[in-house]
Amino acid sequence: MSGLPRPAPTGPKPAWLKIRLDTGENYRGVHGMVQGLRLHTVCQEARCPNIYECWGDRTATFMILGDVCTRRCGFCAVATGRPRAVDPDEPDHVAEAVRHLDLKHAVITMVDRDDLPDGGAAQVARVIRAVRGRNPACEVEILTSDFRGVECPLDVVLPAGPVTFSHNIETVPRLYPTVRQGSRFERSAGLLRRAVRWRGSAARPLVKTGLMVGLGESREELLLTFAALAEAGVEILTIGQYLRPTLAHLPVARYYPPGEFEELRRESLACGFRHVEAGPLVRSSYHARRHTESAASAPALDSPFARP
Ligand code: SF4
Repeated sequence: MSGLPRPAPTGPKPAWLKIRLDTGENYRGVHGMVQGLRLHTVCQEARCPNIYECWGDRTATFMILGDVCTRRCGFCAVATGRPRAVDPDEPDHVAEAVRHLDLKHAVITMVDRDDLPDGGAAQVARVIRAVRGRNPACEVEILTSDFRGVECPLDVVLPAGPVTFSHNIETVPRLYPTVRQGSRFERSAGLLRRAVRWRGSAARPLVKTGLMVGLGESREELLLTFAALAEAGVEILTIGQYLRPTLAHLPVARYYPPGEFEELRRESLACGFRHVEAGPLVRSSYHARRHTESAASAPALDSPFARP
């Protein structure tokens, strides 16, 4: 880990962000399996605060298409640069990891691969099929890049049969230039809208997005963003606290107390989402199975925004 920027001294984190560092048997088992199968996880690469809990519960989110991203978002600890070639063994290795952990809901994410003509869509579909093929009882949730807005990737990825299609909107439109260089709010919202349209009247995949707070957004901007996402037909929303990974990343503008997350959860639900998970340590994949199950059983709300 030498050469990495020192973790950011943001002053004492509020008590509600304190976590228990439990590297017990399950944690070590997952760690060894990930290394043994030459896999990457967003748990490690993004320095997720929930890694001790999730790996302790023998669950993890696999990050495919390598550990080097072609973008440089101001909030993200994943390495940036020239990615390596696509690993042909990756689909089998992810499928084996899911079998080893006996997962019933596997979350798979990816780095942005703007260097590939299809943005990595074909490999994403291969991984989904390999996991479902080897683990018929396991549902797959796929958390993708924006595929640079290229039209066809959804026609490649969605036929592979994910139960939930996810793409993180991350923040409000005004902050995109500083928080998500190389991305566009409308492009990301457009991808989510197209996934809803692709699904048509079918029940799957459910469509999901995630957002961080604490980067300088206003409450009004958040409510407008929630409304735009509900209008796009998104059913599942996660809202979590931005945490600065290193000094090289954006500073935390504010820590939201748990009570404020509860307010955001209620206000966003009123926009028409079928499930909202909101809390300081909430991440898109944190207890993801619960998000999907809750949304699947929730009646489609008669929202002022949701289309018929
Ligand atoms: S919340 Fe997601 S990314 Fe974080 S440790 Fe858990 S599975 Fe990994």
